[in-house]
Amino acid sequence: MKFSEFNLHKNVFEGVEAMGFIEPSPVQEQVIPIALEGKDLIACAQTGTGKTAAYLLPLMHHLCTNRSNKIKGLILAPTRELVLQIDQQFQGFAYFTGLESIAIYGGSDSGIWEQQRAAIEQGCNILIASPGRLLSHLNLGYVDLSELEYLILDEGDKMLDMGFVDDINKILTYLPTKRQTLMFSATFPPKIRILANLLLKNPVEISIAVAKMAEGVLQAAYMTFDNQKNKLISHLLANKELDSVIIFSSTKIKVKQLHTELVKAGFAAKAIHSDLDQAERELVMRDFRNRKFPILVATDIVSRGIDVDNIGLVINYDVPHDAEDYVHRIGRTARASSTGVGLTFINETDIPRFARIEKLIKDTIFKAPNPPEIGDGPEYNPHAVRKINRTHSQQKSGKFNNRRRQPRQ
Ligand code: ADP
Ligand code: MG
Repeated sequence: MKFSEFNLHKNVFEGVEAMGFIEPSPVQEQVIPIALEGKDLIACAQTGTGKTAAYLLPLMHHLCTNRSNKIKGLILAPTRELVLQIDQQFQGFAYFTGLESIAIYGGSDSGIWEQQRAAIEQGCNILIASPGRLLSHLNLGYVDLSELEYLILDEGDKMLDMGFVDDINKILTYLPTKRQTLMFSATFPPKIRILANLLLKNPVEISIAVAKMAEGVLQAAYMTFDNQKNKLISHLLANKELDSVIIFSSTKIKVKQLHTELVKAGFAAKAIHSDLDQAERELVMRDFRNRKFPILVATDIVSRGIDVDNIGLVINYDVPHDAEDYVHRIGRTARASSTGVGLTFINETDIPRFARIEKLIKDTIFKAPNPPEIGDGPEYNPHAVRKINRTHSQQKSGKFNNRRRQPRQ
């Protein structure tokens, strides 16, 4: 689905577009309609699944629909870093709305305290705050939350771990009891009920389980050394009636090289990567959508939110860094209940990463034998390799990082 289907306030939707968000993530797809209806909810989904926008967008929609210069929204988050991160996303989405936020967080710098105080006295629509510092301001009496309508608690599990329950309880005494409350958490330990009972009324519970593959996608993988990959691509694409094919690679250098080779070999292919400006990218995407050429070679900038239906074949030239990206990419095929094929090339270093994908989707993907003229690739043996590559495979990677465009100036 698309963000346009939520019927968000026009100015909020413009912000969504400016941020480069096109398709909602699963948690957004579930949370946004319920939040727009005004219900309380608790949503549990792992880090990086897009929880921030899931609550910011409905909140902003409400605030744009019923304008007021009182503080109507309060977002609580456990740490200064989170408060700033949330505020940053808010600023991005709020670009066209005229809504104002203030970030309230602790720190040793006394200048910050005065700044926060002055900003509060000037007025705003939304406070984004860590509990301890907000309470200090509240105790001094110049923060008026009597007309608050929306309370959001981010990282509920962390709030508990950091012992914020008492602070939150005290903050609640400053808030109207008639309000909408949303709570978000990366995990769902039993003790999270303590917070839920404290804050929420008849909440809808949303829990995003592990990612699921699109039905009807035929998946396979080829074990390939890097120097076998281009030959294999040519082999797979040669002498076929090609409809729409996307080949993803992790780096723009590989995208450019593969694109050049494909064109040299006589394929009608185009490339899309971050060296193209926005207008150029849009043109390539439009032509691809309109089936003016069959093969698109792309860095992962387009893997989420790309608007192309019924792609017959997706090839991962290398294994996506993020297991969930695999699901998103392969999910490009087989839209609208047609069937598609998703192929992944696995070299010797990508094996642990692919093993994680298989774990995520709870499935073992068929390792297709290489065509004889390509020769054998590395052996798929995740357990042997995982030990050696431990630090490598444990590196964290941001989920949708770099996919965000700056708001229009
Ligand atoms: P969480 O709070 O679940 O850990 P965030 O809300 O911080 O996740 O989102 C992680 C990253 O994903 C952010 O950089 C955000 O801008 C980006 N993001 C979230 N939703 C989308 C989307 N629908 N399309 C593209 N990027 C998104
Ligand atoms: Mg978050």
